[in-house]
Amino acid sequence: MPIDATLPYDDANIFAKILRGEIPSRNVYEDEYALAFHDINPQAPIHILVIPKGRYVSWEDFSAKASDAEIAGFVRAVGQVARDNRLVEPGYRLLANIGGHGHQEVPHLHVHLFGGRQFYHMLA
Ligand code: IMP
Repeated sequence: MPIDATLPYDDANIFAKILRGEIPSRNVYEDEYALAFHDINPQAPIHILVIPKGRYVSWEDFSAKASDAEIAGFVRAVGQVARDNRLVEPGYRLLANIGGHGHQEVPHLHVHLFGGRQFYHMLA
């Protein structure tokens, strides 16, 4: 079910548990600001999620409350993940679902990187 992205951060969400090491994840990248791991239900040959380490639900939350270092660190991590997984030359899709209309299901900000196949016009 999509979430209300204006709600306060919930420390019981699944990505918070991944960050705390309470449940396993197939990590592909980690630094001070971000963690990237394979999506458990991949929608493309390569489907990686990148999350900031801070407690942010939505893009608004992140852009308003995160430090410049956190924002730069997250953005750079996404780029590094794209390079590390050879997504840059063939191209890839970068997506963030936010709130109810965006059909965000996990209330910890994340971006999806999809690659390894041709994509067409916007998602339905
Ligand atoms: P959203 O709709 O953008 O919030 O997408 C949440 C994504 O998290 C979905 O693509 C899920 O497959 C993925 N997901 C949910 N639980 C896990 C997990 O434990 N590990 C990795 N990915 C997960």
